[in-house]
Amino acid sequence: MHTCKEAIELLAAYLDGELPPAQKQALEEHLGACAPCVDFVATYRQTPGLCKKALEAKMPKDLADSLSAFLRKHTAA
Ligand SMILES: [Zn+2]
Repeated sequence: MHTCKEAIELLAAYLDGELPPAQKQALEEHLGACAPCVDFVATYRQTPGLCKKALEAKMPKDLADSLSAFLRKHTAA
């Protein structure tokens, strides 16, 4: 099973619909069991004006930064 960090690394491709089926299923299984990740994905999905190009340009650093802060706050490990 994916850790939260691994799940988030797949998120850009997932939101683009470009994730291979096996990885997509694994990510969805993680999201099914991980409330913090669900909240994070929901936030991204609901962001108005979020387009593929913006996502590609902004995801790696912005998402990594915000997610690591987010996970530090929400997970004990
Ligand atoms: Zn998670």
